[in-house]
Amino acid sequence: MNMNIFLIIAIVLGSFLFMEFVAWFTHKFVMHGFLWILHKDHHTREHEPFEWNDLFALIFALPSILLIVAGSVNFDYRFWMGLGIAMYGLAYFLFHDVLVHRRLKILDKIDNNYFRAVVKAHNDHHLGGENFGFILMIPWKYFRDKSLAQRGKY
Ligand SMILES: [Zn+2]
Ligand SMILES: [Zn+2]
Repeated sequence: MNMNIFLIIAIVLGSFLFMEFVAWFTHKFVMHGFLWILHKDHHTREHEPFEWNDLFALIFALPSILLIVAGSVNFDYRFWMGLGIAMYGLAYFLFHDVLVHRRLKILDKIDNNYFRAVVKAHNDHHLGGENFGFILMIPWKYFRDKSLAQRGKY
């Protein structure tokens, strides 16, 4: 399939952005809904090396892998959709598991308004608040709050 670079970028970016919506939706209505049994330990246990909640990473990886495999014959749109989803998965891991919950002791020097907002919004989620989104769906009030966010606390 003949695709120009702009179309490829649009598909990758669109898939990435769409995944924030999928993550928000799944988190709000599935993880805090009928699959709470798998998400629960992320909210209640002290953070242990592995959580039942980690199964969601595998579930989300599946469509990405299938699209990449199916699309890699001709590098058609499915490949780029799968890549966008994979990039969102990587970003989610870096933000949620590393930046907020400190499961890997890297990126600890990162500090700016945006990262503080991400951490504060997600900490509030753990304290019983809303904020089911993550990378982009962050309420504006967290950007105006200039306080330093605690990482790895919840
Ligand atoms: Zn949650
Ligand atoms: Zn969390």
